[in-house]
Amino acid sequence: MSPLAESPTVARRPRGGHVLTSSARTRRTNTSDADVVIVGAGLAGLAAAHHLTSAGLAVVVLEAQSHVGGRMATDHVDGFRLDRGAGLLCSDWPELAGLPGLGLGSALALRPFTPGALMRTGDRCLPVGDLRAGTGRHARAVRQGREGRQGRVPYPYSYAYQMRSTKQALSAARSFGGGRGLGRTARTTRTTMSDALDLARLRAGFARLANTPAERLRARAELPAGEALSARGLPTRTADTLVGPLLAALLCDPELTTSSRVADLALRSFVRSGLCLPAGGASTLPELLAAGLPKGTVRRGVRATSVAANAVNTDGHGVLGCRAALIATGARDAARLLPGLRVPDFHPVTVLHHAAQEPPMTAPALVVDADRHGPVSHTWVTSAVDPSRARPDRTLISSVVLGPAAADPVGPLDKAARTQLAELYGVPTDRWELLRSHHDPRAVPAMPTPHDGRRPVRVLCGLYVCGDHRDTSSTQGALSSARRAAVEVLRDFGLRTAGVGERELLAVA
Ligand SMILES: Cc1cc2nc3c(=O)[nH]c(=O)nc-3n(C[C@H](O)[C@H](O)[C@H](O)COP(=O)(O)OP(=O)(O)OC[C@H]3O[C@@H](n4cnc5c(N)ncnc54)[C@H](O)[C@@H]3O)c2cc1C
Repeated sequence: MSPLAESPTVARRPRGGHVLTSSARTRRTNTSDADVVIVGAGLAGLAAAHHLTSAGLAVVVLEAQSHVGGRMATDHVDGFRLDRGAGLLCSDWPELAGLPGLGLGSALALRPFTPGALMRTGDRCLPVGDLRAGTGRHARAVRQGREGRQGRVPYPYSYAYQMRSTKQALSAARSFGGGRGLGRTARTTRTTMSDALDLARLRAGFARLANTPAERLRARAELPAGEALSARGLPTRTADTLVGPLLAALLCDPELTTSSRVADLALRSFVRSGLCLPAGGASTLPELLAAGLPKGTVRRGVRATSVAANAVNTDGHGVLGCRAALIATGARDAARLLPGLRVPDFHPVTVLHHAAQEPPMTAPALVVDADRHGPVSHTWVTSAVDPSRARPDRTLISSVVLGPAAADPVGPLDKAARTQLAELYGVPTDRWELLRSHHDPRAVPAMPTPHDGRRPVRVLCGLYVCGDHRDTSSTQGALSSARRAAVEVLRDFGLRTAGVGERELLAVA
Protein backbone atom coordinates (compact mmCIF):
# COMPACT_ATOMS: atom_id res chain seq x y z
CA MET A 1 0.00 0.00 0.00
CA SER A 2 1.33 3.45 -0.75
CA PRO A 3 2.17 5.94 2.01
CA LEU A 4 -0.66 8.17 0.80
CA ALA A 5 -3.25 5.45 1.14
CA GLU A 6 -1.94 4.64 4.60
CA SER A 7 -2.46 8.17 5.95
CA PRO A 8 -4.66 8.18 9.05
CA THR A 9 -8.00 9.72 8.27
CA VAL A 10 -8.55 12.07 11.13
CA ALA A 11 -8.35 15.77 11.41
CA ARG A 12 -9.96 19.00 10.62
CA ARG A 13 -12.67 19.74 8.08
CA PRO A 14 -11.50 22.23 5.49
CA ARG A 15 -13.79 24.25 3.22
CA GLY A 16 -15.85 22.09 0.98
CA GLY A 17 -16.58 19.70 3.84
CA HIS A 18 -13.78 17.24 3.14
CA VAL A 19 -11.60 15.69 5.80
CA LEU A 20 -7.93 16.51 5.38
CA THR A 21 -5.52 14.27 7.27
CA SER A 22 -3.12 15.98 9.68
CA SER A 23 -0.16 13.76 8.78
CA ALA A 24 -0.74 14.40 5.10
CA ARG A 25 -0.73 18.16 5.68
CA THR A 26 2.49 17.96 7.67
CA ARG A 27 4.20 15.91 5.00
CA ARG A 28 3.26 18.44 2.32
CA THR A 29 4.52 21.49 4.20
CA ASN A 30 7.81 19.73 4.98
CA THR A 31 8.71 18.26 1.62
CA SER A 32 6.44 19.49 -1.15
CA ASP A 33 5.55 22.64 -3.00
CA ALA A 34 1.94 21.48 -3.29
CA ASP A 35 -0.31 18.55 -2.51
CA VAL A 36 -1.09 18.20 -6.20
CA VAL A 37 0.71 19.58 -9.25
CA ILE A 38 -1.53 19.70 -12.31
CA VAL A 39 0.09 19.91 -15.74
CA GLY A 40 -2.04 21.93 -18.18
CA ALA A 41 -4.46 24.80 -17.59
CA GLY A 42 -7.02 23.79 -20.20
CA LEU A 43 -10.58 23.25 -19.09
CA ALA A 44 -9.80 19.83 -17.59
CA GLY A 45 -6.79 21.01 -15.54
CA LEU A 46 -8.61 24.09 -14.22
CA ALA A 47 -11.76 22.13 -13.35
CA ALA A 48 -9.69 19.51 -11.50
CA ALA A 49 -7.91 22.33 -9.64
CA HIS A 50 -11.30 23.66 -8.54
CA HIS A 51 -12.43 20.31 -7.22
CA LEU A 52 -9.15 19.74 -5.36
CA THR A 53 -8.78 23.23 -3.85
CA SER A 54 -12.43 23.05 -2.77
CA ALA A 55 -11.44 19.91 -0.87
CA GLY A 56 -8.76 21.91 0.96
CA LEU A 57 -5.71 20.72 -0.97
CA ALA A 58 -2.87 23.00 -2.04
CA VAL A 59 -2.68 22.86 -5.82
CA VAL A 60 -0.30 24.29 -8.41
CA VAL A 61 -1.32 24.30 -12.08
CA LEU A 62 1.49 24.58 -14.64
CA GLU A 63 0.62 25.96 -18.06
CA ALA A 64 3.15 26.01 -20.89
CA GLN A 65 1.42 28.85 -22.74
CA SER A 66 1.13 32.44 -21.58
CA HIS A 67 -2.67 32.06 -21.33
CA VAL A 68 -5.05 29.54 -19.82
CA GLY A 69 -7.73 27.63 -21.72
CA GLY A 70 -5.77 25.41 -24.13
CA ARG A 71 -8.02 24.68 -27.10
CA MET A 72 -10.65 27.04 -25.70
CA ALA A 73 -8.60 30.14 -26.47
CA THR A 74 -9.99 33.39 -27.87
CA ASP A 75 -7.89 35.89 -29.85
CA HIS A 76 -8.64 39.60 -29.56
CA VAL A 77 -8.21 41.14 -33.03
CA ASP A 78 -9.19 44.68 -33.96
CA GLY A 79 -12.21 44.78 -31.63
CA PHE A 80 -13.32 41.22 -32.43
CA ARG A 81 -13.15 38.17 -30.19
CA LEU A 82 -12.21 35.19 -32.31
CA ASP A 83 -12.35 31.67 -30.93
CA ARG A 84 -9.62 29.29 -32.02
CA GLY A 85 -12.07 26.43 -31.62
CA ALA A 86 -15.75 26.33 -32.47
CA GLY A 87 -16.82 26.53 -28.83
CA LEU A 88 -20.32 25.14 -29.39
CA LEU A 89 -21.84 24.00 -26.09
CA CYS A 90 -25.08 22.34 -25.04
CA SER A 91 -26.60 24.01 -22.02
CA ASP A 92 -27.91 20.67 -20.71
CA TRP A 93 -24.38 19.27 -20.27
CA PRO A 94 -24.44 18.34 -16.59
CA GLU A 95 -20.78 19.15 -16.01
CA LEU A 96 -21.31 22.78 -17.04
CA ALA A 97 -23.97 23.34 -14.40
CA GLY A 98 -22.19 21.27 -11.76
CA LEU A 99 -18.85 23.03 -11.86
CA PRO A 100 -17.96 25.33 -8.98
CA GLY A 101 -17.92 28.86 -10.33
CA LEU A 102 -19.87 28.03 -13.49
CA GLY A 103 -23.20 26.91 -12.13
CA LEU A 104 -26.45 28.82 -12.07
CA GLY A 105 -26.06 32.38 -10.87
CA SER A 106 -22.40 32.51 -11.87
CA ALA A 107 -20.83 35.08 -14.16
CA LEU A 108 -21.06 32.66 -17.11
CA ALA A 109 -23.71 33.69 -19.63
CA LEU A 110 -24.62 31.34 -22.45
CA ARG A 111 -25.93 32.75 -25.74
CA PRO A 112 -28.32 30.34 -27.49
CA PHE A 113 -28.64 29.52 -31.18
CA THR A 114 -32.28 29.74 -32.29
CA PRO A 115 -33.66 27.72 -33.89
CA GLY A 116 -31.43 24.67 -33.40
CA ALA A 117 -30.04 24.43 -36.91
CA LEU A 118 -31.05 25.41 -40.41
CA MET A 119 -30.21 22.72 -42.96
CA ARG A 120 -29.49 24.21 -46.38
CA THR A 121 -30.30 21.73 -49.12
CA GLY A 122 -30.92 22.73 -52.72
CA ASP A 123 -32.82 26.00 -52.53
CA ARG A 124 -34.47 25.02 -49.27
CA CYS A 125 -33.73 25.82 -45.68
CA LEU A 126 -35.08 23.29 -43.19
CA PRO A 127 -35.07 23.89 -39.44
CA VAL A 128 -34.21 20.82 -37.37
CA GLY A 129 -33.87 20.02 -33.76
CA ASP A 130 -35.60 22.94 -32.16
CA LEU A 131 -38.15 21.18 -30.03
CA ARG A 132 -38.72 24.46 -28.28
CA ALA A 133 -40.39 25.98 -31.36
CA GLY A 134 -44.15 26.37 -31.35
CA THR A 135 -46.73 27.77 -29.02
CA GLY A 136 -48.23 24.63 -27.52
CA ARG A 137 -48.15 23.56 -23.89
CA HIS A 138 -45.30 21.09 -24.50
CA ALA A 139 -43.13 23.48 -26.45
CA ARG A 140 -43.57 26.07 -23.71
CA ALA A 141 -42.51 23.48 -21.13
CA VAL A 142 -39.40 22.62 -23.15
CA ARG A 143 -38.53 26.31 -23.57
CA GLN A 144 -38.88 26.93 -19.87
CA GLY A 145 -36.98 23.74 -19.01
CA ARG A 146 -39.83 22.50 -16.81
CA GLU A 147 -39.50 18.95 -15.65
CA GLY A 148 -42.21 16.35 -16.04
CA ARG A 149 -43.54 14.16 -13.25
CA GLN A 150 -40.73 11.63 -13.55
CA GLY A 151 -38.01 14.24 -13.80
CA ARG A 152 -38.29 14.35 -17.59
CA VAL A 153 -39.08 17.24 -19.83
CA PRO A 154 -42.45 16.27 -21.34
CA TYR A 155 -41.50 16.28 -25.00
CA PRO A 156 -44.42 15.94 -27.37
CA TYR A 157 -44.28 13.10 -29.84
CA SER A 158 -47.70 12.74 -31.35
CA TYR A 159 -47.62 12.90 -35.14
CA ALA A 160 -50.33 15.59 -35.24
CA TYR A 161 -48.44 17.72 -32.78
CA GLN A 162 -45.22 17.34 -34.77
CA MET A 163 -46.94 18.31 -38.02
CA ARG A 164 -48.33 21.43 -36.34
CA SER A 165 -45.05 22.48 -34.78
CA THR A 166 -43.13 21.63 -37.95
CA LYS A 167 -45.32 24.08 -39.84
CA GLN A 168 -44.59 26.70 -37.19
CA ALA A 169 -40.87 26.01 -37.36
CA LEU A 170 -40.90 26.23 -41.16
CA SER A 171 -42.67 29.54 -41.16
CA ALA A 172 -40.25 30.73 -38.47
CA ALA A 173 -37.31 29.71 -40.70
CA ARG A 174 -38.83 31.70 -43.57
CA SER A 175 -39.14 34.80 -41.50
CA PHE A 176 -35.60 34.63 -40.14
CA GLY A 177 -33.24 37.18 -41.48
CA GLY A 178 -35.67 40.06 -41.48
CA GLY A 179 -35.62 40.26 -45.27
CA ARG A 180 -31.84 39.88 -45.46
CA GLY A 181 -29.66 37.17 -46.94
CA LEU A 182 -30.71 33.72 -45.79
CA GLY A 183 -34.10 35.03 -44.71
CA ARG A 184 -34.79 36.50 -48.13
CA THR A 185 -33.59 33.36 -49.91
CA ALA A 186 -35.56 31.06 -47.67
CA ARG A 187 -38.72 33.10 -48.04
CA THR A 188 -38.61 32.77 -51.79
CA THR A 189 -38.09 29.01 -51.70
CA ARG A 190 -40.90 26.49 -51.63
CA THR A 191 -40.87 23.88 -48.94
CA THR A 192 -42.24 20.70 -50.43
CA MET A 193 -44.82 18.48 -48.82
CA SER A 194 -42.24 15.71 -48.52
CA ASP A 195 -39.92 18.14 -46.67
CA ALA A 196 -42.71 18.80 -44.20
CA LEU A 197 -43.30 15.06 -43.77
CA ASP A 198 -39.57 14.37 -43.35
CA LEU A 199 -39.32 17.10 -40.74
CA ALA A 200 -42.40 15.95 -38.88
CA ARG A 201 -41.04 12.38 -38.75
CA LEU A 202 -37.67 13.65 -37.67
CA ARG A 203 -39.08 15.84 -34.94
CA ALA A 204 -41.10 12.91 -33.62
CA GLY A 205 -37.90 10.81 -33.59
CA PHE A 206 -35.98 13.60 -31.88
CA ALA A 207 -38.72 13.94 -29.29
CA ARG A 208 -38.45 10.22 -28.48
CA LEU A 209 -34.65 10.52 -28.32
CA ALA A 210 -34.90 13.48 -25.95
CA ASN A 211 -37.01 11.38 -23.60
CA THR A 212 -34.79 8.29 -23.70
CA PRO A 213 -32.60 7.99 -20.60
CA ALA A 214 -28.91 8.38 -21.44
CA GLU A 215 -28.14 5.01 -19.85
CA ARG A 216 -30.47 3.30 -22.35
CA LEU A 217 -28.62 4.98 -25.22
CA ARG A 218 -25.29 3.87 -23.83
CA ALA A 219 -26.54 0.28 -23.71
CA ARG A 220 -27.54 0.21 -27.40
CA ALA A 221 -25.51 -1.81 -29.92
CA GLU A 222 -22.49 0.22 -31.00
CA LEU A 223 -21.85 0.95 -34.68
CA PRO A 224 -20.11 3.71 -36.59
CA ALA A 225 -22.62 6.59 -36.50
CA GLY A 226 -23.02 6.64 -40.30
CA GLU A 227 -23.93 2.93 -40.39
CA ALA A 228 -26.29 3.30 -37.45
CA LEU A 229 -28.34 5.90 -39.33
CA SER A 230 -29.35 3.36 -41.98
CA ALA A 231 -29.45 0.38 -39.58
CA ARG A 232 -32.13 2.18 -37.57
CA GLY A 233 -34.41 2.47 -40.57
CA LEU A 234 -34.05 6.20 -41.10
CA PRO A 235 -35.11 7.07 -44.68
CA THR A 236 -31.99 7.65 -46.82
CA ARG A 237 -33.04 11.20 -47.67
CA THR A 238 -33.50 12.12 -44.02
CA ALA A 239 -30.22 10.48 -43.06
CA ASP A 240 -28.24 12.10 -45.90
CA THR A 241 -29.65 15.60 -45.89
CA LEU A 242 -30.72 16.18 -42.30
CA VAL A 243 -29.31 13.96 -39.56
CA GLY A 244 -25.95 13.04 -41.15
CA PRO A 245 -24.72 16.60 -41.83
CA LEU A 246 -26.00 17.74 -38.43
CA LEU A 247 -24.13 14.94 -36.65
CA ALA A 248 -20.99 15.67 -38.69
CA ALA A 249 -21.14 19.25 -37.39
CA LEU A 250 -21.81 18.24 -33.79
CA LEU A 251 -19.01 15.63 -33.76
CA CYS A 252 -16.52 17.40 -36.10
CA ASP A 253 -16.53 14.09 -37.99
CA PRO A 254 -17.63 14.33 -41.65
CA GLU A 255 -17.16 10.57 -42.26
CA LEU A 256 -19.36 9.70 -39.25
CA THR A 257 -16.99 7.05 -37.95
CA THR A 258 -17.74 8.09 -34.36
CA SER A 259 -19.40 5.54 -32.09
CA SER A 260 -23.19 5.61 -32.49
CA ARG A 261 -23.51 5.75 -28.69
CA VAL A 262 -21.61 9.03 -28.58
CA ALA A 263 -23.60 10.28 -31.60
CA ASP A 264 -26.93 9.42 -29.93
CA LEU A 265 -25.90 11.26 -26.79
CA ALA A 266 -24.69 14.28 -28.76
CA LEU A 267 -27.96 14.43 -30.68
CA ARG A 268 -29.96 13.99 -27.48
CA SER A 269 -28.20 16.96 -25.88
CA PHE A 270 -28.77 19.00 -29.02
CA VAL A 271 -32.52 18.34 -29.14
CA ARG A 272 -32.96 18.78 -25.40
CA SER A 273 -31.18 22.10 -25.01
CA GLY A 274 -30.03 23.38 -28.39
CA LEU A 275 -26.57 24.88 -28.87
CA CYS A 276 -25.05 27.95 -27.30
CA LEU A 277 -21.85 29.96 -27.11
CA PRO A 278 -20.30 31.36 -23.95
CA ALA A 279 -20.75 35.14 -23.96
CA GLY A 280 -17.50 36.97 -24.68
CA GLY A 281 -15.72 34.02 -26.29
CA ALA A 282 -14.80 30.43 -25.53
CA SER A 283 -11.98 31.62 -23.27
CA THR A 284 -14.57 33.03 -20.84
CA LEU A 285 -15.04 29.56 -19.36
CA PRO A 286 -11.39 28.80 -18.51
CA GLU A 287 -10.77 32.42 -17.48
CA LEU A 288 -13.67 32.30 -15.01
CA LEU A 289 -12.36 29.02 -13.64
CA ALA A 290 -8.83 30.38 -13.29
CA ALA A 291 -10.08 33.54 -11.59
CA GLY A 292 -11.95 31.43 -9.03
CA LEU A 293 -8.80 29.61 -7.88
CA PRO A 294 -6.69 30.77 -4.94
CA LYS A 295 -4.17 33.44 -5.98
CA GLY A 296 -0.92 32.01 -7.35
CA THR A 297 -2.41 28.59 -8.17
CA VAL A 298 -1.88 28.90 -11.93
CA ARG A 299 1.68 29.43 -13.18
CA ARG A 300 1.67 30.46 -16.83
CA GLY A 301 4.64 29.98 -19.16
CA VAL A 302 5.90 26.92 -17.27
CA ARG A 303 6.28 23.70 -19.30
CA ALA A 304 6.50 20.36 -17.50
CA THR A 305 9.22 18.14 -18.95
CA SER A 306 8.76 15.00 -16.87
CA VAL A 307 6.32 13.84 -14.26
CA ALA A 308 6.46 11.40 -11.34
CA ALA A 309 4.09 10.79 -8.45
CA ASN A 310 6.17 12.96 -6.11
CA ALA A 311 7.76 15.55 -8.41
CA VAL A 312 7.28 17.46 -11.64
CA ASN A 313 10.30 18.71 -13.60
CA THR A 314 9.94 21.90 -15.58
CA ASP A 315 11.67 23.61 -18.43
CA GLY A 316 13.74 26.28 -16.62
CA HIS A 317 11.58 26.61 -13.51
CA GLY A 318 13.09 23.87 -11.37
CA VAL A 319 11.48 20.81 -9.82
CA LEU A 320 8.21 20.96 -7.90
CA GLY A 321 7.75 18.43 -5.13
CA CYS A 322 4.24 17.10 -4.63
CA ARG A 323 2.19 14.26 -3.21
CA ALA A 324 0.43 13.64 -6.49
CA ALA A 325 0.66 14.78 -10.11
CA LEU A 326 -2.23 15.09 -12.54
CA ILE A 327 -1.52 15.36 -16.25
CA ALA A 328 -4.27 17.43 -17.87
CA THR A 329 -2.78 18.08 -21.30
CA GLY A 330 -4.07 17.00 -24.71
CA ALA A 331 -3.60 13.33 -25.64
CA ARG A 332 -0.30 13.69 -27.49
CA ASP A 333 1.42 15.78 -24.80
CA ALA A 334 0.09 13.40 -22.15
CA ALA A 335 1.72 10.45 -23.95
CA ARG A 336 5.04 12.33 -24.05
CA LEU A 337 4.91 12.73 -20.27
CA LEU A 338 3.49 9.25 -19.67
CA PRO A 339 5.03 6.99 -22.35
CA GLY A 340 2.72 4.12 -23.19
CA LEU A 341 -0.47 6.16 -22.84
CA ARG A 342 -2.75 5.62 -25.82
CA VAL A 343 -2.78 8.38 -28.44
CA PRO A 344 -6.03 8.42 -30.45
CA ASP A 345 -6.48 9.58 -34.03
CA PHE A 346 -7.73 13.12 -34.35
CA HIS A 347 -10.28 15.03 -36.42
CA PRO A 348 -8.69 18.18 -37.86
CA VAL A 349 -10.71 21.42 -37.77
CA THR A 350 -10.18 24.85 -39.30
CA VAL A 351 -12.23 27.84 -38.17
CA LEU A 352 -12.52 30.87 -40.48
CA HIS A 353 -13.62 34.23 -39.09
CA HIS A 354 -14.86 36.84 -41.57
CA ALA A 355 -15.95 40.44 -40.98
CA ALA A 356 -18.68 42.02 -43.10
CA GLN A 357 -20.33 45.44 -43.21
CA GLU A 358 -23.84 43.96 -43.28
CA PRO A 359 -25.16 40.87 -41.52
CA PRO A 360 -25.85 38.11 -44.08
CA MET A 361 -28.75 37.06 -41.84
CA THR A 362 -30.06 38.39 -38.58
CA ALA A 363 -31.12 35.09 -37.00
CA PRO A 364 -28.79 33.61 -34.38
CA ALA A 365 -28.97 30.23 -36.14
CA LEU A 366 -26.48 27.52 -37.03
CA VAL A 367 -26.51 27.02 -40.80
CA VAL A 368 -25.43 23.55 -41.95
CA ASP A 369 -24.61 22.84 -45.60
CA ALA A 370 -26.54 19.60 -45.97
CA ASP A 371 -25.39 19.23 -49.60
CA ARG A 372 -21.70 19.61 -48.67
CA HIS A 373 -20.92 21.49 -51.84
CA GLY A 374 -17.84 23.21 -50.46
CA PRO A 375 -15.30 23.01 -47.63
CA VAL A 376 -17.54 24.63 -44.99
CA SER A 377 -19.54 22.20 -42.85
CA HIS A 378 -21.43 24.78 -40.80
CA THR A 379 -21.45 28.50 -40.27
CA TRP A 380 -23.16 31.15 -38.16
CA VAL A 381 -23.29 34.90 -37.67
CA THR A 382 -21.40 35.06 -34.41
CA SER A 383 -22.32 38.67 -33.73
CA ALA A 384 -26.03 37.73 -33.99
CA VAL A 385 -25.57 35.01 -31.37
CA ASP A 386 -23.28 37.06 -29.14
CA PRO A 387 -23.00 40.77 -30.03
CA SER A 388 -20.14 41.26 -27.55
CA ARG A 389 -17.77 39.45 -29.91
CA ALA A 390 -17.79 42.05 -32.69
CA ARG A 391 -17.31 45.78 -33.13
CA PRO A 392 -20.71 47.51 -33.21
CA ASP A 393 -20.16 48.66 -36.82
CA ARG A 394 -19.22 45.24 -38.22
CA THR A 395 -20.62 41.73 -38.43
CA LEU A 396 -18.64 38.65 -37.44
CA ILE A 397 -19.28 35.40 -39.33
CA SER A 398 -17.61 32.15 -38.24
CA SER A 399 -17.38 29.02 -40.39
CA VAL A 400 -16.04 25.56 -39.65
CA VAL A 401 -14.13 23.35 -42.10
CA LEU A 402 -13.87 19.64 -41.31
CA GLY A 403 -12.06 16.65 -42.81
CA PRO A 404 -9.11 16.76 -45.25
CA ALA A 405 -10.12 20.24 -46.56
CA ALA A 406 -9.25 21.63 -43.13
CA ALA A 407 -5.56 21.14 -44.00
CA ASP A 408 -5.77 23.19 -47.24
CA PRO A 409 -3.66 26.35 -47.46
CA VAL A 410 -5.52 29.42 -46.21
CA GLY A 411 -5.68 31.30 -49.55
CA PRO A 412 -7.46 28.63 -51.65
CA LEU A 413 -9.52 27.51 -48.66
CA ASP A 414 -10.81 31.04 -48.03
CA LYS A 415 -11.64 31.45 -51.74
CA ALA A 416 -13.62 28.19 -51.88
CA ALA A 417 -15.32 29.00 -48.58
CA ARG A 418 -16.43 32.46 -49.77
CA THR A 419 -18.03 30.98 -52.89
CA GLN A 420 -19.90 28.46 -50.78
CA LEU A 421 -20.89 31.02 -48.12
CA ALA A 422 -22.28 33.32 -50.83
CA GLU A 423 -24.62 30.50 -51.87
CA LEU A 424 -25.50 29.47 -48.34
CA TYR A 425 -26.37 32.96 -47.12
CA GLY A 426 -27.55 34.29 -50.48
CA VAL A 427 -25.36 37.42 -50.32
CA PRO A 428 -22.10 38.43 -52.04
CA THR A 429 -19.05 37.65 -49.91
CA ASP A 430 -16.21 39.05 -52.05
CA ARG A 431 -15.90 42.13 -49.82
CA TRP A 432 -15.80 40.15 -46.63
CA GLU A 433 -12.52 40.44 -44.77
CA LEU A 434 -10.81 37.29 -43.49
CA LEU A 435 -9.91 38.29 -39.93
CA ARG A 436 -8.25 35.03 -38.94
CA SER A 437 -8.16 31.35 -39.72
CA HIS A 438 -7.16 28.83 -37.13
CA HIS A 439 -6.18 25.30 -38.09
CA ASP A 440 -5.77 22.54 -35.51
CA PRO A 441 -4.77 19.14 -36.89
CA ARG A 442 -5.50 17.57 -33.50
CA ALA A 443 -8.64 19.53 -32.63
CA VAL A 444 -10.85 16.65 -31.55
CA PRO A 445 -9.78 13.12 -30.53
CA ALA A 446 -11.57 10.56 -32.72
CA MET A 447 -14.10 8.32 -30.97
CA PRO A 448 -14.50 5.25 -33.22
CA THR A 449 -16.14 2.01 -32.06
CA PRO A 450 -15.66 0.61 -29.52
CA HIS A 451 -15.49 3.84 -27.59
CA ASP A 452 -14.80 3.80 -23.87
CA GLY A 453 -16.22 7.08 -22.60
CA ARG A 454 -14.74 6.51 -19.17
CA ARG A 455 -11.09 5.63 -19.70
CA PRO A 456 -9.19 5.17 -16.43
CA VAL A 457 -7.83 8.41 -15.02
CA ARG A 458 -5.73 6.83 -12.25
CA VAL A 459 -2.38 5.53 -13.52
CA LEU A 460 -1.14 4.57 -10.06
CA CYS A 461 -1.46 6.01 -6.60
CA GLY A 462 -0.12 9.57 -6.94
CA LEU A 463 -0.21 9.75 -10.74
CA TYR A 464 -3.36 10.65 -12.67
CA VAL A 465 -4.41 11.79 -16.13
CA CYS A 466 -7.47 13.69 -17.39
CA GLY A 467 -8.59 15.59 -20.48
CA ASP A 468 -11.11 15.10 -23.26
CA HIS A 469 -9.18 12.06 -24.56
CA ARG A 470 -10.13 10.12 -21.40
CA ASP A 471 -13.86 10.72 -21.88
CA THR A 472 -15.71 12.25 -24.83
CA SER A 473 -14.01 14.74 -27.12
CA SER A 474 -15.74 17.91 -26.00
CA THR A 475 -15.96 20.49 -23.28
CA GLN A 476 -18.33 18.19 -21.39
CA GLY A 477 -15.87 15.29 -21.73
CA ALA A 478 -12.91 17.38 -20.50
CA LEU A 479 -14.89 18.50 -17.44
CA SER A 480 -16.19 15.02 -16.71
CA SER A 481 -12.69 13.51 -16.84
CA ALA A 482 -11.46 16.24 -14.47
CA ARG A 483 -14.12 15.42 -11.92
CA ARG A 484 -13.36 11.69 -12.14
CA ALA A 485 -9.63 12.34 -11.70
CA ALA A 486 -10.25 14.61 -8.71
CA VAL A 487 -12.35 11.87 -7.09
CA GLU A 488 -9.49 9.37 -7.56
CA VAL A 489 -6.93 11.78 -6.06
CA LEU A 490 -9.14 12.46 -3.03
CA ARG A 491 -9.77 8.74 -2.52
CA ASP A 492 -6.03 8.01 -2.55
CA PHE A 493 -5.48 10.87 -0.10
CA GLY A 494 -8.04 9.27 2.18
CA LEU A 495 -10.36 12.25 1.82
CA ARG A 496 -14.09 12.37 1.34
CA THR A 497 -15.20 12.75 -2.20
CA ALA A 498 -18.86 13.60 -1.71
CA GLY A 499 -18.36 17.28 -2.57
CA VAL A 500 -16.98 16.37 -5.99
CA GLY A 501 -20.09 14.37 -6.74
CA GLU A 502 -19.51 10.68 -7.10
CA ARG A 503 -22.91 10.48 -8.76
CA GLU A 504 -22.80 9.08 -12.24
CA LEU A 505 -22.65 12.23 -14.29
CA LEU A 506 -23.26 11.20 -17.84
CA ALA A 507 -20.53 11.90 -20.34
CA VAL A 508 -22.76 13.34 -23.00
CA ALA A 509 -20.49 14.32 -25.87
C1 LIG B 1 -10.98 23.90 -33.71
C2 LIG B 1 -11.67 23.21 -32.55
C3 LIG B 1 -13.05 23.13 -32.51
C4 LIG B 1 -13.69 22.54 -31.42
N1 LIG B 1 -15.05 22.55 -31.37
C5 LIG B 1 -15.66 22.14 -30.22
C6 LIG B 1 -17.05 22.34 -30.03
O1 LIG B 1 -17.73 22.92 -30.88
N2 LIG B 1 -17.62 21.90 -28.88
C7 LIG B 1 -16.87 21.28 -27.90
O2 LIG B 1 -17.43 20.92 -26.85
N3 LIG B 1 -15.56 21.07 -28.06
C8 LIG B 1 -14.94 21.50 -29.18
N4 LIG B 1 -13.60 21.34 -29.32
C9 LIG B 1 -12.89 20.51 -28.33
C10 LIG B 1 -12.66 21.23 -27.00
O3 LIG B 1 -12.06 22.47 -27.24
C11 LIG B 1 -11.75 20.33 -26.16
O4 LIG B 1 -12.39 19.07 -25.98
C12 LIG B 1 -11.43 20.87 -24.78
O5 LIG B 1 -11.06 22.23 -24.84
C13 LIG B 1 -10.28 20.04 -24.22
O6 LIG B 1 -9.84 20.56 -22.99
P1 LIG B 1 -8.63 19.88 -22.24
O7 LIG B 1 -8.43 20.62 -20.97
O8 LIG B 1 -8.86 18.40 -22.16
O9 LIG B 1 -7.34 20.04 -23.19
P2 LIG B 1 -6.63 21.36 -23.76
O10 LIG B 1 -7.60 22.43 -23.99
O11 LIG B 1 -5.83 20.90 -24.92
O12 LIG B 1 -5.66 21.84 -22.58
C14 LIG B 1 -4.40 21.27 -22.36
C15 LIG B 1 -3.46 22.34 -21.81
O13 LIG B 1 -2.23 21.72 -21.44
C16 LIG B 1 -1.16 22.60 -21.78
N5 LIG B 1 0.06 21.79 -21.88
C17 LIG B 1 0.37 20.84 -22.79
N6 LIG B 1 1.59 20.31 -22.51
C18 LIG B 1 2.04 20.94 -21.40
C19 LIG B 1 3.23 20.80 -20.61
N7 LIG B 1 4.19 19.91 -20.92
N8 LIG B 1 3.40 21.61 -19.54
C20 LIG B 1 2.42 22.52 -19.20
N9 LIG B 1 1.28 22.68 -19.91
C21 LIG B 1 1.09 21.88 -20.99
C22 LIG B 1 -1.63 23.18 -23.11
O14 LIG B 1 -0.92 24.38 -23.42
C23 LIG B 1 -3.10 23.41 -22.84
O15 LIG B 1 -3.34 24.68 -22.30
C24 LIG B 1 -12.93 21.94 -30.38
C25 LIG B 1 -11.53 22.02 -30.43
C26 LIG B 1 -10.91 22.67 -31.47
C27 LIG B 1 -9.41 22.81 -31.45
